Amino acid sequence: MGRSSKDKRDIYYRLAKEEGWRARSAFKLLQLDEEFNLFKGVRRAVDLCAAPGSWSQEKEQAKIVAVDLQAMAPLPGVTQIQGDITKTSTAQEIIKHFEGQPADLVVCDGAPDVTGLHDVDEYIQAQLLLAVSLIFRGKDVTLLYSQLRIFFGEVTCAKPRSSRNSSIEAFVVCQRYAPPEGYVPNMSNPLLDHCYDVDFNQLEGPNRVIVPFLACGDLSAFDSDRTYPLQLDPSKEYKYTPPTQPPIRPPYEQACRLRKSNLLANENSPSLPLDEGFSSLHL
Ligand code: SAM
Repeated sequence: MGRSSKDKRDIYYRLAKEEGWRARSAFKLLQLDEEFNLFKGVRRAVDLCAAPGSWSQEKEQAKIVAVDLQAMAPLPGVTQIQGDITKTSTAQEIIKHFEGQPADLVVCDGAPDVTGLHDVDEYIQAQLLLAVSLIFRGKDVTLLYSQLRIFFGEVTCAKPRSSRNSSIEAFVVCQRYAPPEGYVPNMSNPLLDHCYDVDFNQLEGPNRVIVPFLACGDLSAFDSDRTYPLQLDPSKEYKYTPPTQPPIRPPYEQACRLRKSNLLANENSPSLPLDEGFSSLHL
């Protein structure tokens, strides 16, 4: 496969490189911003699940704390924390960086947990005013909406043009943080921990919330499910652009190293004892 074939298959991957974004996800946030004006007046922002960091590139004058399990190449003016967003210690570290001031915007582009609700708890911990998070619109998404509505005046489910239609990925945009009176932020999730046998779609009344669904990014934006020719503009010749920020410590690094030395296990060879906890790797 030539290195231009991904450029052809994925228009947003290609545009991200050409425009200097670290990841194609940048367009999702830009399209959400077009719809919701997310960045207006933001002084303090938290970028959860941030690596490689394209969402933190989209800053105006805000103080940004970016958190990821993976190491990230530095971004000027952005405080980076390598940690797990579901841990209280990580939330405390974020709060420390804002010196007790609430965050104006929290974005999260990861779905680290099957419920996604730990991120939500973390938002609340930071006393945010606005939150955007990636979700998978699975069968129990109603519960997530209901829980978010307890804390936010407005909850919308949005699908940017740059998010493929073939994916159940969408983003919840929560505005007007207004927790119930007397609510004490915490990272536990007692409701879900005890409700695995509940069919949330059967809930009724105040327990069931139907949130508005919004497709955003106008129709002139590229369709992420389409394949585009390499030469988009007939007057400009296609030129391959390398990634803006190549991965600094990718999880496939060890496999590439082993493949180079012909040490990868295959169907016909016995497994080799490898370092870093792998028993064998089949590619
Ligand atoms: N928004 C990013 C950008 O535009 O550059 C891309 C984010 S990527 C799709 C999802 C990230 O979520 C991965 O880098 C992964 O390491 C991170 N992640 C997943 N679970 C996490 C967790 N529990 N704590 C912190 N980061 C997590």
